[in-house]
Order: sequence, then structure tokens, then C-alpha cells
Amino acid sequence: MDQTKRIALIAHNNKKQDILEWARFNRAFLAKHELYATGTTGKLLEEELDLAIHKLQSGPLGGDQQIGAKISTQEIDLLIFFWDPLEQQPHDPDVKALLRIAVVWNIPIACNRASADFLVTSPLMTDAYQPYLPTYKDYLDRNYETQAAQIKTAQEQLALV
Ligand code: PGA
Repeated sequence: MDQTKRIALIAHNNKKQDILEWARFNRAFLAKHELYATGTTGKLLEEELDLAIHKLQSGPLGGDQQIGAKISTQEIDLLIFFWDPLEQQPHDPDVKALLRIAVVWNIPIACNRASADFLVTSPLMTDAYQPYLPTYKDYLDRNYETQAAQIKTAQEQLALV
């Protein structure tokens, strides 16, 4: 991770006010980094902060999945995701998938203002910090070998019939 972090910002509708207030307070910090956001969150933050933001699709239209894809290819370093704990979302499966993939790839996540405050004031923010990057080699090798063995057995059984 470089000193300039690639930060993804997302807020559900009932949390948009929260993220705007948080981002206004932390504008000087955010201005030093490269910002990504889902569509509506990004538009609102751009207006609020007058900073350039890479805007992806709106969350329910695939934006959460786009951020998840970027996390899995190490294009996002940090996730600030104010999800709504009191209301169901049409894209709840995407929300779960995004939180899951952020854990899979060991990136820092903040899901409320207090965690986001702790995250952005961490001493690790001002340095180049290399988080442990899992390779999942054992999983990938084992999965491949298991699948290959199962396919071979199935083919041998077919040949016997
Ligand atoms: P939005 O998406 O920024 O386009 O509103 C956020 C979300 O609901 O995931």
C-alpha cells in the first residue's frame, strides 16, 4: 500500500447524511488520497467536497460488485461502507458479497463513523504499509486437484459403461 491510498466510499440511502458529514469533517484527509464510490454516494460526495471521485455504478445496479471486483484485484486499499442496519436493501446479497470479499482480501473496513475515524487517524495511514496479502495457494491447489481427480474418476466410470 502506498502513502496515497485508494479508498472506496459507499453509503446506503439512510446513511448518506452520515457519510457527507463525516467526509466534510475529514476533507483534508480525503483530498490526499484516490477516491472511489458507488454512483449516488460519489455524486453527493463530489458536490460536498469538490474533489474528483471515480464513480462506479449505483450500488443496487452493480456498484457494490464493481468495488468488490476491484478489491479482489488489489485496486482498492480501504473500504468505508456505511450500510444501513435498520432496513433491507434490494441488493442485500451484493452487500454481503462486498463485505465478504473485503475480509477475503484483508483490507481495512469501516462500517460506521467511529470506526472510520479510528481508521483515518491510524499512524499506518501516513506510511507505506504492506498488509498481509493472502495468496490462497493451498486452497487453489487443493481445489484444482480435487476437481481434476473427480473429473478423471467420472470419465473412467463413463468409459466402463
Ligand atoms: P449508491 O449505492 O451510492 O448508488 O446509492 C450505494 C449502495 O446502496 O450500495
